[in-house]
Amino acid sequence: MWAGVFVIALAGIAGLSALDAAETLGGAGFLKLRSSDPGGSERPAQEPIAPLTGLLIVLDPGHGGDDRGVCHFESDLIEKEINLDLALRLQEQLEKAGARVLLTRADDTFVSLDERARIANDAEAHLFLSLHVNRIPGHPDCFGAQTFYFPGSEEGERLAQLLQEELIKIDPENYRSPLPGNYRVLRLTTMPGALVEIGFMTSARDRELIATTVYRDQVAMAITQGVIRFFTESPSPPRR
Ligand SMILES: [Zn+2]
Repeated sequence: MWAGVFVIALAGIAGLSALDAAETLGGAGFLKLRSSDPGGSERPAQEPIAPLTGLLIVLDPGHGGDDRGVCHFESDLIEKEINLDLALRLQEQLEKAGARVLLTRADDTFVSLDERARIANDAEAHLFLSLHVNRIPGHPDCFGAQTFYFPGSEEGERLAQLLQEELIKIDPENYRSPLPGNYRVLRLTTMPGALVEIGFMTSARDRELIATTVYRDQVAMAITQGVIRFFTESPSPPRR
């Protein structure tokens, strides 16, 4: 369904009829006109455009520095390291999809929650995604990636729902639904946002997944797909 939405959006941008735009798309990808190119007659009229072009996304790898987050030392799993590794993988996927990406931390340093929100607000990002690993002591059977949105944020909830749907495709046994979460980084940021817990450190099942680069790449691709759906399925926030 969203391909159809995109065709109409493309038609609007390029001044084409929806039919022209559909023919231009040809099922091969996304295209745009270079209408501002004065030498356009000698150059191809269209070039590929990625679905997240014009969007700035802030990724927030949770914890860092002295704040290690949740750990499972026997498995050599430390949350702050997992979050950063995932953020870098996600950055790559989002950039491939055309987005600009800003990280609240790109190395093992401590950044306060207020500073993380300030980075996103100052950059006037279109989207904020905080990345974490979950824990629930005493409940080793609890498993599965889980998304959170700020209570009352309609756009945040829509984003979290789409991300959850895509994450469940990786792990169909994951029965979790998005939940409201009064997290400070979501409360202080002014753009739509979500917090993604990619699994439970307290679950042996999840630890096995989280430890692998295969799972982390799958999560990065699932989140990217959710973000693409967020911006291409109606209603879509404005771009710059
Ligand atoms: Zn965390």
